[in-house]
Formats: sequence, C-alpha cells, structure tokens
Amino acid sequence: MANMAVASNVMKRLQGKVALITGAASGIGESAARLFVKHGAKVVVADIQDDLAQKVCQDLDPSSASHVHCDVTQESDIENAVNTAVSKYGKLDIMFNNAGIGGSRTSNILDDKKSDFERVISVNLVGIFLGAKHAARVMIPNRCGSIINTASVCSTLGGGAPHAYVSSKHAVVGLTRNTAVDLGRYGIRVNCLSPYFVSTPSAADFVERIYGGVSKVYTYLDGAELKAEDVADAALYLASDDSKYVSGHNLVVDGGHSIVNSAMCMYENSKK
Ligand code: NAD
Repeated sequence: MANMAVASNVMKRLQGKVALITGAASGIGESAARLFVKHGAKVVVADIQDDLAQKVCQDLDPSSASHVHCDVTQESDIENAVNTAVSKYGKLDIMFNNAGIGGSRTSNILDDKKSDFERVISVNLVGIFLGAKHAARVMIPNRCGSIINTASVCSTLGGGAPHAYVSSKHAVVGLTRNTAVDLGRYGIRVNCLSPYFVSTPSAADFVERIYGGVSKVYTYLDGAELKAEDVADAALYLASDDSKYVSGHNLVVDGGHSIVNSAMCMYENSKK
C-alpha cells in the first residue's frame, strides 16, 4: 500500500506546483490544463472564452482548476491572472503563454492589412512578453519557475502560414532566448514549443482550405498524427523538474518535418 502511494507520487510530475495557462479554454491549452491537473498541479485557466473556460474547470476537479478572464493583449488582465494564481494557490511555478491566433488567411502581401498584422503580433508576441513579465514579477522572489511559450513549426520555416503569423512565431523564439538569459540569473527557465499542425479550432479550417486537411499534410513520420495531447506532453516535460537544466530551448514537435527539404529528399519516392 505504501509503495503504491510512492508510485503515484512519482508519476505525478507536477505535484505541489501552480500553473497558469493562457488560451486554456480550447485546443493545446485545454489539453495542457487537463494533463497538468492530472499530474498534481493547481491550474489557472486563462482565456477570453469564459463559458468554455468555465466548462473546462468544471470538468476538472474544481479544487484544482479555476478560470480567470484574461485577454493577453491587456497588461491589466495578465497582471490580474498572475495575481489570482498567487492569491488563490500561494505562488506561481509554471507560466504557459499559449494563447495565439492565426490572423487573416491572406496568401498575398498586397492583401494584408496593417491592422490585422498588428493584431496577430499583439496576441502572439506582446501577449507572451506580458505573460513573461508578470510571471517573472512573482517568480523572481522565489528564485525558480518555468515559463513556456507556444511558438510553432512556423518559428523555423517560411511559407507555412501568412506573414504576420510566421513573423510572430519567429519572434517568440527570440523573446524566449532573451528572457531565458535575463531570468536565468534568478533560476527561472524559459523555453518554447514549436508544434506542427494540430487539428484544433484555430488551425483546422486553415489546414482544410490550404492543404486539404491535416491527414493530407505531409510528414516524415509514418503512422503518427500530431494531437493536442502530444503537445501537452511536451509542455509537461518543460514544466516539470525533468527539464531542470533546459532553458532557452525551442522544442520542435513536428515529426521531423522542419529538417527536410522535400524538393531534395532521396527517400520520398522510395517510401514503403
Ligand atoms: P485554439 O483555437 O484551440 O486555442 C487558442 C485559445 O486561445 C482559444 O481558447 C482562444 O480563445 C484563446 N485566445 C485567443 N486570443 C486570446 C487572447 N487575446 N487572450 C487570451 N486567450 C486568447 O488553438 P490552438 O491550436 O490550441 O492554439 C494554441 C497555440 O498553439 C497558439 O499559440 C497557436 O498559434 C499555437 N500553434 C497551433 C498549431 C496548430 O496546428 N493548432 C500549430 C503550432 C502552433
């Protein structure tokens, strides 16, 4: 019996930790919220979709998850979300800056509007800057913490999505590296995640329209399709002490897609 208790604690990789996840009402953020609670964390579910976010919290153990309305482009909302984590659960160990939008789906720069470009940068980049800043505010006194930012496979490649999205995701890598150096002085780790396509509400219609569906998107790892749960697993690694010496890293979760030039791949035509 005692051994079983030890085993379940060992498997709970976030026992005693407090996490705040933005964009947690849906998709990758929702999966991470579910996984983090399963691993023993208290989670603040921050999103602009209040009804969905509340439903996620109700589904989870209500003593382990609570919703806070948070538009990541508003510094006061981020400040309030971080303060809620601290007042409700006593501290903040993990900040998962995950909220993001695709922006308008133009395929020609001549059709791009400055206002759309700025909106994408505001959510995908400024939102992460604000999240990192306010997480750091409460993590620095504790001299520890893990900040995780959701970038994208578009952080390493051009041509996969519109200009604003690709620009914002490249910039997330730069911000991750710079904040990792800055906050490393206080024992705080900062990393980002770069998933390939996942069929979530924000990506599904884009992938359907441009590529004919997720199953049509070519990957180099036969038999595997990336799910939100797989990205949540990668976030769990970066959130937990398993990654205690990993900082400034861009963890690409793409089945090898971004390392191949499909125009010059000797294995493509000889697939089984
Ligand atoms: P999703 O649409 O399922 O979830 C995004 C969540 O972010 C939604 O709940 C939405 O309400 C929230 N959100 C949007 N704007 C917000 C704001 N201003 N403030 C707070 N919350 C806001 O999409 P997803 O695919 O789970 O996206 C999560 C992250 O993953 C995004 O950063 C996205 O760019 C990134 N990503 C997604 C894919 C993919 O293929 N799905 C691939 C690579 C990266």
